[in-house]
Amino acid sequence: MEEKILRQKKLRVTPFRTEVLSIFLNNDHAISAQNIEEELGEHDRITLYRTLKSFVKNGVIHEIVMPGDVKKMALCDPVCDHDDGLHEHNHIHFQCKKCEEVFCADVDKLPKVELPGFSVEEVEIQAKGICKNCK
Ligand SMILES: [Zn+2]
Ligand SMILES: [Zn+2]
Ligand SMILES: [Zn+2]
Repeated sequence: MEEKILRQKKLRVTPFRTEVLSIFLNNDHAISAQNIEEELGEHDRITLYRTLKSFVKNGVIHEIVMPGDVKKMALCDPVCDHDDGLHEHNHIHFQCKKCEEVFCADVDKLPKVELPGFSVEEVEIQAKGICKNCK
């Protein structure tokens, strides 16, 4: 699975990239750099940050910043078209008020936003509430 994703996103397969990617695959919610560091154990910080940067650039993961929360990252949709550095997703970001985890929640269709006089390139929708695990 990891190797397939890396190849699809045009990244060379290395043991470290595979390991970092597997952490994303094992979580159903977005994770912070600190979460990843804790899971990795012994590792080189600079290599980790470079790896995360290349993942974002190549459309493997995307960054999510919810107001008042640390920056988190989650896997991209397979459809994510990362050309021009723009991420394209059909999901909204949902943060649980209880466990504070952030989820990428799929929706059939995102509402189309038109702003007179502005050309909209990306729309980011954030929602808050109680997640499936906390219900
Ligand atoms: Zn993406
Ligand atoms: Zn929750
Ligand atoms: Zn997301």
